Amino acid sequence: MKTWISKNAEETALIAREIADLLHGGDVLELEGDLGAGKTTFTKGLVAALGGGARVKSPTFTVMNEYEATHVDIKRVVHIDFYRFNDDLEAMALALEDERRADTLIVAEWPSKVSADFLRPTKTLRFEHLRGDERRITLS
Ligand code: ADP
Ligand code: MG
Repeated sequence: MKTWISKNAEETALIAREIADLLHGGDVLELEGDLGAGKTTFTKGLVAALGGGARVKSPTFTVMNEYEATHVDIKRVVHIDFYRFNDDLEAMALALEDERRADTLIVAEWPSKVSADFLRPTKTLRFEHLRGDERRITLS
């Protein structure tokens, strides 16, 4: 387990650079935390850190986005937001199994909307609101 304290959104992006070095192709990173905790802000920083930027496709509006990456073993980042999902059955339409690849990092917001059996996360990042803009970010 590893913990960071972020004082603002810019710091969260810097922390994402550090965390990028701890991730590998094939990882499924779940992002836990309340609305506004910084999960999407973190993901933008992470995609940038992995050399991405170009959104490849958005097959289901903003629910699932794919980004190119130039990291040593992560060539693709798939970002999923389960916020509007109610159960695994609804999420099945995303065909997540097709996205699990050795060259791919899957990052999922709102993992609590689906079961752990469905997502099968390899790493968990928890975002907690502290005072004001401060956030505690814990990797486990
Ligand atoms: P989530 O995806 O968890 O709902 P977002 O990343 O979309 O959260 O939104 C977080 C909001 O909080 C943004 O407006 C961001 O600018 C702001 N913010 C303030 N402090 C921080 C921080 N330390 N880390 C991340 N975001 C922060
Ligand atoms: Mg979000």
